[in-house]
Amino acid sequence: MKTKERFAFLECTVCSNRNYTTHKRLKATYKLEKSKYCRFCRKHTSHKEKKL
Ligand SMILES: [Zn+2]
Repeated sequence: MKTKERFAFLECTVCSNRNYTTHKRLKATYKLEKSKYCRFCRKHTSHKEKKL
């Protein structure tokens, strides 16, 4: 099995809970940052990528 992807967490920048997992290509250099719903903050917050 060849895989060019790796897993990453999306971490809430407010409470630091890792609410989502995602995957992206190994060669990608950009940082993921998305507005997602955080059930701990109970609102949409900015989520940043963290390595697994
Ligand atoms: Zn949060």
